[in-house]
Amino acid sequence: MNTKAEICGARTKDGVCMNAPVTGKERCRLHGGLSTGAKTPEGRERQAEAKRARWDEIKQALALYRDQAAECG
Ligand SMILES: [Zn+2]
Repeated sequence: MNTKAEICGARTKDGVCMNAPVTGKERCRLHGGLSTGAKTPEGRERQAEAKRARWDEIKQALALYRDQAAECG
């Protein structure tokens, strides 16, 4: 029995997306139903780069937080 939802169901600011999913996918075309992810080496590298940049920011924020905590005892 097919119990798969017949709506996209992605969370939006108004609740959930009521669009029909792309055929064979779980999300509508606005919410990644058409996306196949990064396929080219360039695309994958760009994603990895963005991930590293985010982690650097997080580590800096954590280091700053630890420094402040240490000063306050
Ligand atoms: Zn959607």
